[in-house]
Amino acid sequence: MGKKRCTAIVLAAGRGSRMKSDVPKQYMLLRDKPVIWYALHAIEESAVIDDCILVAGTEVSDIEYMRDEIVARYGFRKVDTIVAGGKERYDSVYHALQVIADEDMAVPNRDGFIFIHDGVRPFLSEEILRRCYEAVEKYHACVAGMPVKDTIKLADGEGFAAKTPDRALTWQIQTPQVFDAPLIISSYNRLMQEKENLLREGVSITDDAMTVERFTGCKVKLVEGSYENIKITTPEDIRIAEALMEDLK
Ligand code: C5P
Repeated sequence: MGKKRCTAIVLAAGRGSRMKSDVPKQYMLLRDKPVIWYALHAIEESAVIDDCILVAGTEVSDIEYMRDEIVARYGFRKVDTIVAGGKERYDSVYHALQVIADEDMAVPNRDGFIFIHDGVRPFLSEEILRRCYEAVEKYHACVAGMPVKDTIKLADGEGFAAKTPDRALTWQIQTPQVFDAPLIISSYNRLMQEKENLLREGVSITDDAMTVERFTGCKVKLVEGSYENIKITTPEDIRIAEALMEDLK
């Protein structure tokens, strides 16, 4: 069987309020490159990924900045579409999926796989992409993650421990999150229909796998990511990422 087409959706529309900085975290410098450079570089060099939809902020100036200062400046040829994101992460993913569903792409990717990746995870590697490809081919849906090293407690909402899940079964979830194209498009269409109800119930949609778990019968396979595959969220994460880069040299 030939390799299926793989489209990456790279999310970089966040405002990064937890970073306490005027510069959104995807554009902060890590060594001498913007954070977003690292994920796009991994994709550019990858034998797994064929093309990429990049999701920028909602302002016209965000798209222009991404086009001129990131994609053109560093010559990322696999990025063939830049779309404006939305208010929440799931809105941003939905906007990118519409490009695929509406067949706006030069060659629509309806039968292939969609790799959704946070642009603020600079340690995306070819090994992770390859493991995800193998899993999605077999299981239709998979997410990168790692077994949790600490004991996890579920709180009761008032700051008391309510439950302690078996540590051997707890995973911290990362990206890429990878799906058959029709599966993730239909899950997100359902999510958008049900959005108001979910918000009313207080459900927050924090990753893509949740939509597949909730709206389809498809089980999501957990795939080994790496402990380095961190998300840059707060200022100390930049220092951690710099130290990790030193180690990986
Ligand atoms: O906010 P969080 O850390 O979950 O963001 C994860 C990724 O999703 C980041 O790469 C961020 O740029 C992206 N995002 C987005 N649109 C939003 C919110 C977050 O593309 N509305």
